[in-house]
Amino acid sequence: MRTETTSGPTTTSEEIERIVTGLPKVSLHCHLLGSIQAQTVVELAAKHGVDLAGHTAETLYDHASYEDLGEFLRVLDVVGSVVRDRDDLHRVTYESLTEGGAAHRVLYREIQISPPGHGNVPYPHLIEGITAGMRDAQTDTGIDSRVVVGLCREDTPAAALELVETVIAHRTEEVIGIGLDYAEVKGPPVQFAPAYARAAEAGLQRTAHSETGPPQHIEVLLDELGCSRIDHGYHVVDDPEITARCVQERVPFICTPVSSDIGRYSGSGDGSHRRIRQMVEAGLVVAIDSDDPPMFGTDPTHDYRALAHALGFGLDQLGTFTLNAVEASWLEEADKAALRRRALEEIEALRGPEPRPQT
Ligand SMILES: [Zn+2]
Repeated sequence: MRTETTSGPTTTSEEIERIVTGLPKVSLHCHLLGSIQAQTVVELAAKHGVDLAGHTAETLYDHASYEDLGEFLRVLDVVGSVVRDRDDLHRVTYESLTEGGAAHRVLYREIQISPPGHGNVPYPHLIEGITAGMRDAQTDTGIDSRVVVGLCREDTPAAALELVETVIAHRTEEVIGIGLDYAEVKGPPVQFAPAYARAAEAGLQRTAHSETGPPQHIEVLLDELGCSRIDHGYHVVDDPEITARCVQERVPFICTPVSSDIGRYSGSGDGSHRRIRQMVEAGLVVAIDSDDPPMFGTDPTHDYRALAHALGFGLDQLGTFTLNAVEASWLEEADKAALRRRALEEIEALRGPEPRPQT
């Protein structure tokens, strides 16, 4: 099969494979609880005597059948209920960063965690287990990572503020920012402004999900919550003025093609990823990640593969997604510059030798 690229020449399936597997990746939108392999969930459930209602590793993540976000979140709750102690947290973090990260050439990840999804695990224990997994993953594979703490928009604004206070009280250098996830219909963003203001005051960076919400919510995230980037944000293209503003201000959007398509949250759900195409064509700063990879039958490489096949993107555009993620990351400037250099080198190496001029 040959696919037209936006940059001119045709790209074969083999060439797409070479590019997407070799491409350096920077991961800003991947949830820890959503990145646990089904086999690990089954083993942890056995360890803690949790009944998985007859599910096996083969049936637990039935990604074709998440009819709505509620159904997906119910499975996520089951996953959260089996990750209990420091060893569990170390294991799931380590596996997510190695097999689910470095093995796909992810150089750096800002892991999104959801403390409310972990039930009764106290926040300091959560961070201790996760950071131990992060350190070992870096030692063994070189992958660098930080933590983004997700506030649950189904909780009250007071509970969200309390979580921010907890993060500040137990501050570690790995935790660099906050996000906002779970069901958007239950938690319009403006009510979380006090929690976000407190995070800003403490020097924490801010992002939030806007997957199903109207484009006006994106302005709320920028203006009321002080977000420096947006998770998903597909509906921005429904409003030309807000789109123009986001282009002008170079607001990064971290899109997750496969999960948003399967969940039909992006408004397409037909494999066309048309909103991502519209966002790129509008000149928005777009980066790509895989959200909850095994739960949606994807991985960090496959989201790039899906876009390359559906939209004909070649190395130039796919490499731009990685470089956009570098810019959107919350690393210190020196670390960001080093990551940018490495990503550029690896992207250039994928171009291969220039063809000899014909004489
Ligand atoms: Zn997400």
